[in-house]
Formats: sequence, C-alpha cells, structure tokens
Amino acid sequence: MVRQKKHRLIQRAPSFGGFIPYGMQHTSSGEVNLTFEEYEAFTLCDYELLKHEEAAQLMGVSRPTFTRIYSSARKKLAQALVEVAAIRIGGGRIEMATSWFHCLDCDVDFNSDSDKEVRCPLCSGGRINKNW
Ligand SMILES: [Zn+2]
Repeated sequence: MVRQKKHRLIQRAPSFGGFIPYGMQHTSSGEVNLTFEEYEAFTLCDYELLKHEEAAQLMGVSRPTFTRIYSSARKKLAQALVEVAAIRIGGGRIEMATSWFHCLDCDVDFNSDSDKEVRCPLCSGGRINKNW
C-alpha cells in the first residue's frame, strides 16, 4: 500500500510566482521549481530565523521531515543562483494555517479563523475574496 504524503501547514503563500535572473529574459539553465513547503521552510529558517524544531512545529511535520524539506529548498536555491536559472514557486502538498481574505472595498488583506460571514476588520465591508 502506498503511503499518502501529509499536507504541510504554511502561514501564507507567496503572492508572486518566482524570480528571473536580472538582465536575462531566457535562461539557458531553465528553471528550478521550489514547492510552497520548501519556500515556507526557507522563509521560517533563513528569514524569520526560527530553529528547526520551532519551524517543524509550525508546519506540522517532524523535525527530520522539516530538515529534508529545508535542505531541498537550500539546494534548489543554490542551484538557481550558481547556474543562473529562473526560480518558479508552486506545487507541493500544503494546507493554509489560517484563511486569508482580501477586502474589495479598501484593498486590504487579512486573515481569520472563521470562514463564515467574514467582514473586513477595517471598513466592515462584506465584499470579500477568500484565499486570493
Ligand atoms: Zn475593507
């Protein structure tokens, strides 16, 4: 029987699709695909400076699993920088830790634990997009 991979929790998906090396429209090295969970692992450790144990808890995975995801992210980012490859961010098995919403009235993003009858915390508007 094939074991199903568990979803990894991420706090927020990046609002962009990746990076292209400066001054290059087309790279000869192609592109590197960084999954959402790899992006999250890299963000938690190298940007937010969390310890592996803390980051693993936030993502809902064991520490060895976290270390494997993080190592894969570092390896891919190094490959992209050294080989001048584009970085595409997407894919993977993820679950959002909280639901994100966008208010169409005042153009603000916010999160909420509830999915029902969400209203904007700033303008109380009800024209809301979920997980934009
Ligand atoms: Zn609003």
